Amino acid sequence: VTHTRPAAARGVVVVVVFVVVVVVVGLFVGGSGCTREEPLPEKTPPVVDDVVVRAPLLDPAGPLEDARRAAGAAVAAGDLDAALKILDTALGGVTPVVQAGVPAQAVARARCDRAAVLSRRAATAVDVAVRERDLRAAIVDCDDGEHGPLLREALANALVLRARALGNDADTRRARRALLDESLSLAKTAAAAVDLAVVCEASDDLDGALSAAELAVTLVPDGAPDKPRVIALRDRLKRHAGVEGGFKSASERHFVARFEGPGEERLAWNVLDQLEKAWFSVGQKLDLYPEDAITVVIYTGDQYRQATATPDWSTGAFDGKIRVREGLMAAERGTLQDTLVHEYVHAALHACVRSSTSIPAWFNEGLAQQLEPSSRPAYALLSRTGKADLSRLQGPSFLSMQQHDADAAYATAHAMVQTLVDRRGIYGVRQLVAGLKDGTPFADALQTSFALTPEQVWALLP
Ligand SMILES: [Zn+2]
Repeated sequence: VTHTRPAAARGVVVVVVFVVVVVVVGLFVGGSGCTREEPLPEKTPPVVDDVVVRAPLLDPAGPLEDARRAAGAAVAAGDLDAALKILDTALGGVTPVVQAGVPAQAVARARCDRAAVLSRRAATAVDVAVRERDLRAAIVDCDDGEHGPLLREALANALVLRARALGNDADTRRARRALLDESLSLAKTAAAAVDLAVVCEASDDLDGALSAAELAVTLVPDGAPDKPRVIALRDRLKRHAGVEGGFKSASERHFVARFEGPGEERLAWNVLDQLEKAWFSVGQKLDLYPEDAITVVIYTGDQYRQATATPDWSTGAFDGKIRVREGLMAAERGTLQDTLVHEYVHAALHACVRSSTSIPAWFNEGLAQQLEPSSRPAYALLSRTGKADLSRLQGPSFLSMQQHDADAAYATAHAMVQTLVDRRGIYGVRQLVAGLKDGTPFADALQTSFALTPEQVWALLP
């Protein structure tokens, strides 16, 4: 009995070994795929590092996908420069990680990621030149149907901003126009169209200005807050182009005269001569010397009315250009020089004061009247018209007023500036203007120069 146990145990071992051999051989044969078609049973994946499991050498796009993920994490952490560095390295920087044979689609995806990071950085860039450079690079990276139009529009906007950063000087006009033309070629935006219209108008290219304004009107949606302003610009340019489209030009040192034809040429030279004198005399009084040439448009017949749509009482206007009527000049009332000096004061303030719109109409109109060569005594006129309310004098102009209100407004404005001159002479006014030139808000500049508020000046009037 005792001998049968080891024999039985040996039998079990033999059976076990046999089964194991059969199973191993079976697995081996099955694994070769030569004799069996059934798939292998799935094995539990080993618990190891994710990176090892992906076996980079088997997936050519693996490193690029890793880079995209890492870049995404950097973007999420707010480090755009780090994200760019990761993508740059992966896509072909100094030591490219991308190997030959990476699917083109994977590269395209990574490049669009790079474009997205660039446009994100551009959106926060303070420097418009940096913004423009990033967006140009982004478009090179990813100009597909989905991202291309958005990137082009962003670049178009960046070009508008760079054009604005060039300022309003005559010598940057050509550069601004080129930037705005390129902006519109990338994407049609209302901002670029409006700015182009303004630049063209300043260059006396009225046809170019009108077509840009027409485009702007189509681009601003109906009901948008800007719509009325853009329509007004278009209508104004249409009036000007219709009346002045074929006008001739003559230039002096600081002014360009535009007039209809040979019949007005002598008058044009007379106007230029008088404006040159005003440039020096007003400059001496206020220390204002505009460098850019100022355009003066001379109208005949009822052209002035057609072109400017100003109220009947207006004899001259300034809207970036000085506009005057020939009829007024032909009249032997000696008012030509007064009108030219008056409008030139507006032009000089507009050219030299950073935000000229913040100058209240009472100061702008009062000063213009004060400097007219045959200026009448300010208070005498005021006694006839009566004082206008100060609230009506603080806006940018009196052009929306009826004749009667306008008379009182001009008289009150003149008397207020006369009050300032009575206190401290033209030197006080010059100091106030110097403050405006430095960008000081009007009320502060008035306080510094005269220790008065507009209300106090108004209250001082008889
Ligand atoms: Zn005026």
